[in-house]
Amino acid sequence: MSGLEIRRLRVTFDGFTAVDGVDLDVRPGDLRFLIGPNGAGKTTLVDAVTGLVKAEGSARFGGEELLGRSVHRIARSGIGRTFQTATVFEELTVLQNLDIAAGAGRGVWTMLRRRKGVPEPVARALETVGLTELADSPAGTLAHGQKQWLEIGMLLVQDVRLLLLDEPVAGMSHDERQATGELLQRISEERTVVVIEHDMDFMRSFARSVSVLHAGKVLSEGTVAEVQADPKVQEVYLGH
Ligand code: ADP
Repeated sequence: MSGLEIRRLRVTFDGFTAVDGVDLDVRPGDLRFLIGPNGAGKTTLVDAVTGLVKAEGSARFGGEELLGRSVHRIARSGIGRTFQTATVFEELTVLQNLDIAAGAGRGVWTMLRRRKGVPEPVARALETVGLTELADSPAGTLAHGQKQWLEIGMLLVQDVRLLLLDEPVAGMSHDERQATGELLQRISEERTVVVIEHDMDFMRSFARSVSVLHAGKVLSEGTVAEVQADPKVQEVYLGH
C-alpha cells in the first residue's frame, strides 16, 4: 500500500494564494478527513494532486512525483476521485458502468456485448459497495446514495489505490451515511482514502485521522479527539 506525501504545496490563482505551503502526510491505509471552512483550499488541494490545477511544491504517491503530470497520467498512477455530484452513465446498468470503468480504454464495446460472466474484480467491487442485487438495474434508477457507491465501485475496479472523495455523504440519509462510512472503512483496509467533508458527525464517527485546513494552510492535524481539542480549531469553527 502507498501513502501520499505533500510538501510545500502552493496553488495561486491570479495572485491569490488558495493553497499556501501545505505539508500533508497520509499514511498507507489511512482514512483521512480534510475539513475546514468554505474557501479553506480543500478542493484546490485535491485538484492539485489530481492534476486539474497547476501547483508548486511536491506531491508524491508511492514515491512517485505527481505534480507536473497530466490528469490521465496521474489517474494511471492509481489515483482517482469522486465529485459531489456522481457521474455515472444513467442509461447503462450498474454492471455496465463497472465494466466500462474496468475496461477504460480497451474493448469497451466488446464488453457491453458480452452476454454473461462477470469478471472477478467487477463482482468483487459490486459486493464491496453492496450493489450486487442491483447489478442489472439502470444506474439512473438508483437512489442518490447508491449512485455514490457505484462511483466508488468504479474507482475500485480501476484499481485506484488512493481515493479522493469530495463530500461523499452530502444529501444522504442517516442510514446511507452509516453504510458509506462502513464502506470507506472497509476500503481503507487495502487502499488509502482521503475525504473532503463538511459533515462533522460523519467525520467524528469514521475518520481515522483529520487535517483541518484554513486559509490555504494546515491549521491542525491528528485524531478526531486531538483536532477537536485544539483551541485553534475551535476558534475557526466557533468564530471567537
Ligand atoms: P474549499 O474546497 O475548502 O471550500 P476551495 O479550494 O474551493 O476551498 O477554494 C479555495 C480558495 O480558492 C477560495 O477562496 C476560492 O474562491 C479560490 N478558488 C478556487 N478555485 C479558483 C479558481 N479557479 N480561480 C480563482 N479562485 C479560485
